[in-house]
Parts: sequence; structure tokens; C-alpha cells
Amino acid sequence: MPAPPLDTPLFFFGLTTGVALTAASVFLINNFTASRAQRALAAAVADAVLAQQQLEHQGGELASPSSKLSPYLAAVVPTAGAGAPTPNGDLPALRRQSWSVPSFVAADGTLPKLEMEFTVSSKKLQKMVRHMVNEMRKGLEADGHMLKMIPSYVVTRPQGDEVGQYLALDLGGSNFRVCMIELRGQGQTAIRQAKHVVSDELKTGSGEQLFDFFATCIGDFLKSLGMDTREKRSLGFTFSFPVSQNAINHGELMQWNKGFSASGVLHKDVVVLLNKALTKANINIHVTALVNDTVGTLVSHAYRDPQTYVGVILGTGTNAAYVERMSAIPKWTGDKNIAEMVINTEWGAYDEESILPITSYDNALDRASSNPRLQIFEKMISGMYLGEIVRYVLIDLISTGELFRGNSTPKIQTPYAFDTAYMSRIERDHSLELSDTKAVLENLLDVHNTTVQDRRIVKHVCELIGIRAARLSAAGVAAIVTKMKRLDACTVAIDGSVFEHYPHFANRMRDALRELLGIMAENIVLEQARDGSGQGAALIAALHTK
Ligand code: ADP
Ligand code: MG
Repeated sequence: MPAPPLDTPLFFFGLTTGVALTAASVFLINNFTASRAQRALAAAVADAVLAQQQLEHQGGELASPSSKLSPYLAAVVPTAGAGAPTPNGDLPALRRQSWSVPSFVAADGTLPKLEMEFTVSSKKLQKMVRHMVNEMRKGLEADGHMLKMIPSYVVTRPQGDEVGQYLALDLGGSNFRVCMIELRGQGQTAIRQAKHVVSDELKTGSGEQLFDFFATCIGDFLKSLGMDTREKRSLGFTFSFPVSQNAINHGELMQWNKGFSASGVLHKDVVVLLNKALTKANINIHVTALVNDTVGTLVSHAYRDPQTYVGVILGTGTNAAYVERMSAIPKWTGDKNIAEMVINTEWGAYDEESILPITSYDNALDRASSNPRLQIFEKMISGMYLGEIVRYVLIDLISTGELFRGNSTPKIQTPYAFDTAYMSRIERDHSLELSDTKAVLENLLDVHNTTVQDRRIVKHVCELIGIRAARLSAAGVAAIVTKMKRLDACTVAIDGSVFEHYPHFANRMRDALRELLGIMAENIVLEQARDGSGQGAALIAALHTK
């Protein structure tokens, strides 16, 4: 994509940020590998984004549609598509700017409309990054904003030399794990764990039953390892729901999500509830750290890679945490001598309607969900919802007769019957006849006698929704690294089945990052962080004990 021309306001803006950016541009032309200059460029680009935010803030002109920054960014940083060399001198892979309508799609049908609705342009993503940075800043200033930006009370990151055995509990959304983690130093860990599925009855029953179930699982796990439940131990509790924390081991549930609604937990301290259940079950364990899974993922990855400043979850739900400078958290009223703190963004709640490409299908899903009008970003990205969006689209295509000759099945009409894992299988199916897609439709959704055309359409719908999710996730990551001004070097640790198993998800995110950050995207490393959330809780318990 050629760099758009600079317009006049941009030119003035460019003058005000003059010196650093001129140096950066010269550097860009001459040399991509000199690391000092690269750091200067990274800081200058992040400054440009942030300065623009400030201008918009002061002028009350919040993220206007005629964005001034995106052409600016594009002018300063050559995008990958423009053939900018990577630091290694390689040309990055060509990226897909927009969808070309496949030949099997009828021009006058619903599919071309779907293409338009689900495709998110680079420009739209750039707008989202700017707006998200601004929302992050507002959330750090005061409570009550779109992004909660919750201080985690985690103020130290591991050195990699911590040792010892620690217990962790990890409640993600679909699964619940009890883990025993051995920290071996030098970034090495060993983990033993028991995984349980949390049934719908437990999710929506009473809180007491839910916490009693956790205590029983912990007791069984200790017994399975031959450990005495009466021996005193400390435990890190990964609780992946919005919690208002007032200490490392205290926090009240602000809101359930991801299908949970257990009674008697809202506005209660979940550490107290767990400690109570453990005492009741005669288990001598005390919760010493309450951790969000994003924070756990970040800390656990930092144990082996000190460049890790961001933790992201792309599982049942989605969220992110990052390391913020204390001076950038005006709402913090505690100890001001602390240099930095991990902030839980709760980005799943991002819901700017003028920016997010919300379709009628997203709206239908939202209104029928257990938490209507909440967690809109999460509902466009995460594992709990992606398959459900596909299902809504398929029902629409069936109703117009464009799919399955207009024939539906009770299974397809059942809410949440189309698991996101099916999308992975379908997207991974590259056979000529799309035979695995056929198997999914027949065996899991009771749709028989499908044509190849039907299967192509289903696959294409999955692609549209999967690509949109990856691109929106990338915009979130770009917003965080821009806010941190860490475009020079940053590892983003990502946990969750969607990132891990959904084919092409990681590469689609990388493509979008390149569109957003140009050459700087090479410095942002997206890494799979398996089981990071539980290990992180154990590590935080260790750091806290230390
Ligand atoms: P949790 O969020 O409980 O920690 P996971 O990270 O395993 O758990 O995420 C579970 C979510 O991931 C579910 O919503 C499920 O639909 C989705 N999922 C599971 N397997 C796959 C897969 N192969 N491809 C895409 N999504 C998947
Ligand atoms: Mg998880």
C-alpha cells in the first residue's frame, strides 16, 4: 500500500514532534539494524500515537473519523506491504488487504454482504488502536470507564531464579485446574496438574456449591500426590473474572461473564469464599495471591523471558494485562514509591460501537446471551462465541435458501451447538471435497446431503469470522504496546485454546500487526504461553512469600 500523502494538520503535527521523527525517518532510510536508532524510532512512533491522543483529548475531538494519525504513521513507518525490509533484510510476506469475492459466491446473494460486514480494514483497525489507547488512559485516571484497568498489586516480575513448590488453582471459564508447580530456577519449571470441566449446573448454581467443588478437587489432587491435606501450604488463585482488588490476596467479584452466574458471589471477596470452603473441607491451605489469568500468563512467561511485558488470553473469553509505569496510573492511591505495576485491562469490555464492526449477527448473539450489552469485544473474539456467530450466519443463509437448500436441523437451531473447535476443523480442511467439513456437518450438526458448494460456503463463513477475530485481537495488542511505548522489543505471552489451536490465528494476528505497526511489528513477538495462568499464580504466590 503506498503511503498516503500528508495533509496540512498532519504536517504541523509533524513539525511539533520534529527532531525525534526526523532522526527516525533518516534512520529508516539508511539502516534498519542499528538497535539504538531503532529504539529511538520505536519511541518516536509511540510518542506520535500518544501525542495525537493528547491533541484529540485536549481538543475534545475524540477519534474523529477523518483520522490524522493513520496516514502519519503510514508515512513515517513503511508498512510491510510496501515492501519494507525486515531487520534481517528479508521482505515480509505479502498481506491480504481485503477479501476478493470467491468465484463460488453469487453476486446478488447474502455472502457478498457478509464479506463487507465482517472485513475489517487496516484503517478501521488503526482507528481502533488510537481509541483504545485513549480509553486505557481514561481507565488509569479514574474508575467507571469502559476499560477497567484494574491494578493487580503485582509489582515485581520474577528474576528466573525463584525455586520451590507451589500450589495454584486456575479457573479460566471452561476448565478448572489444580496445579503443583515446581520452580527449578533458570526459568525452568515442572508442573503436575488435574483438569476438571466446570458443569453448567455449577456455573449457574450456588456459589457455595461452586467453591465446595474447588475445595474437593484440591483435596483429591493432594491425596493423588500422596500429600497430607493437614500440612500448611500457600496457594495462588487464578480467578479470571473482573475483580476489584485491594490487596494481593483480596478481591471482590465485580461481574460474572463467560456463562457464569453462580449466586452469592457478586461483590464478595472470592479469597474469603475459597478459604472458607477449604476450612470446611479440612484442608490446611491459605490463598496468598489472587491473580487474573492474564497477569498469571504475563508473570509466568517473564520467568523464562524477561522481555515479556504483556499477557493475553484467547480462550473461552479474552483479556490482556501489561506492565505500566506507576507515574501513568493517576488513580492509584497506594504506595507511590513502586516503579511499575501489572494492570489488568479487562479489554473484553471494549464496546465502542462507532469503531467495532458490529453486525446484526453479533447483536443477535449479544441480546440472547447471559450478559447482554456487556463484553462486546470478547463476544467478537473469544472461543465461547466465535462458533455461535457462525451459527447465526448459517441460520440466516439457510433462511434465504442459499445453504443446505433451505433445510435446517434442530441441532443447528440449538444455541451454542456450533463449537469454536468445529471452525478450527473446518478451516484446517484443505481437501478437494472438503470431506472433514462434511463430517463435522453430518456427525456433529446432523446436516446430511450437503453439496461441495454448501461446504465451501460454511468454510468461507468460518474464515470471515476467524480472520475478523484475529485482526481485532491484534489491534488490542497494538494498542497496548503503543501505550507502553515498547515498540522496540516486547514479548506478548498468549494463552488459550483459540490462539493455540485455531489454524492461522497467530499468523493472521501477525499480518494485522504489520499493517498497524509497519516494520516495528517485527519487534513484537507473539508467543504461545501454555498453562501460563496457573504457573503464574504459583509464581506470584512464591514472589509474595519471598
Ligand atoms: P479456559 O478459557 O477455560 O482457560 P481454554 O483456553 O481451553 O480454556 O479455552 C476454551 C475455549 O476454546 C472454548 O470456548 C472452546 O470452544 C475453544 N476451543 C477449544 N478447542 C478449540 C480449537 N481446537 N479451536 C478453537 N477453539 C477451541
Ligand atoms: Mg485459561
